[in-house]
Amino acid sequence: MEKNTELIKNKRNIVNSLLLVLSISLGVSAQDSTAAVLDSSESSVVSIDLSEIPDSLLRSTIDSVSKLLSIEDRGFISSYLLDNHPIYTTGWGRTGNLLPQSTTFNDKDTFDFTLIEGQESFYINEFDSFNWGYGPRWGRMHRGWDLQMDVGDTLRAAFNGVVRYAQYNDGGYGNCVVIRHLNGIETLYAHLSKLDCQPGDFVRAGELIGLAGSTGRSSGPHLHWEWRYMGQSFDAMIAIDTSNYLLKADSLQLIGSNLQDPPEYKIRKTATYHTVKSGETLSHIAQKYHTSVSSLVRKNKLRNPDQLQIGQRIRIR
Ligand SMILES: [Zn+2]
Repeated sequence: MEKNTELIKNKRNIVNSLLLVLSISLGVSAQDSTAAVLDSSESSVVSIDLSEIPDSLLRSTIDSVSKLLSIEDRGFISSYLLDNHPIYTTGWGRTGNLLPQSTTFNDKDTFDFTLIEGQESFYINEFDSFNWGYGPRWGRMHRGWDLQMDVGDTLRAAFNGVVRYAQYNDGGYGNCVVIRHLNGIETLYAHLSKLDCQPGDFVRAGELIGLAGSTGRSSGPHLHWEWRYMGQSFDAMIAIDTSNYLLKADSLQLIGSNLQDPPEYKIRKTATYHTVKSGETLSHIAQKYHTSVSSLVRKNKLRNPDQLQIGQRIRIR
C-alpha cells in the first residue's frame, strides 16, 4: 500500500481508516474489527491512501457499518469524518456556532450532489399541512419550509450525517438541530420541544433527533425546516417533489442563483431603524417588525428596555 502521510496524521486516524477498509473487505461488524485493529495498532504502523477510496464506496460502507451500531457506538465514524472527509473539515466551527460558514456564490457556479448513494435513504417527516415555503416574507427572507405539526411529534434525520448543532438558539430558532450530511447538504430543524441528539452524533436517515414544538420565534407548533449548502440556504423544492414529498432524483444540481437571495433582500442586510413614538413599547415594535423583544434588547444593548424615550432610534436588524 502506498504511503500518504499528509492524509494520515496520527495513529487514531490509521485505526479508524483501517477499520473502515476492514469492514469493507471482510464484511464484518465494525465492533468485531475494532478489537482486531486496536491490537495490531500497538505493534505496527500502517499507512492507507484514503484518496484511493472512492466516495461512493466510503458512503456505502459507512451506511452499512452504522446500521449495525447504536448511536453511542458510532463515535469512530464521526471522528473519522471530522478528521478526514472534505465535507467535514471546513466550516464546522466550534460547538454552538449555528452557521460558521457563510459563502457568497456567483451566477455561474454549479454544484452537483449525490443525495443518496447505494443503500442510503431519504426520510421526510410527516406533517399536517405545508404552511409556508421558502422565500421573502414580511420584508425578510424565510429560509425554510414551515410544516404544521403537533407538539411532541417525532422528528427524524433526512439523510445520514453528523449532528453539528443541537441546542437552544436565541436568534429565533428555539431548540434547533443542524445535521451535516455525507452528501454535502446541511438540514436544519427548528422550534423543537425536545432535543434527542448531541453534536458529534452520527445519525442515520430516519433516526430520531427530537420532538416538534413551538420554541423560539414561533406562532404555533410547527417544524421550520431549512436546507443549506456551505452556510447558504436554498429552497428544498429544488430537490423534493411536493406532489408526493419524495426526492425528485438521487442527485441534485444547484446553480448560483439557487444559492443567492433576491437582490432586494441583499440590501436588507444593512441596518433598519425605528424611531420610537409616544406610547410605544419594545413589545409593540417587536411585533410590528416580526422580531423578538430579546433580539431588540441585544441589538441595541438596552439597559432599561421598559423605558424607551420618544424619538429614540431602535435598530431592528
Ligand atoms: Zn419558518
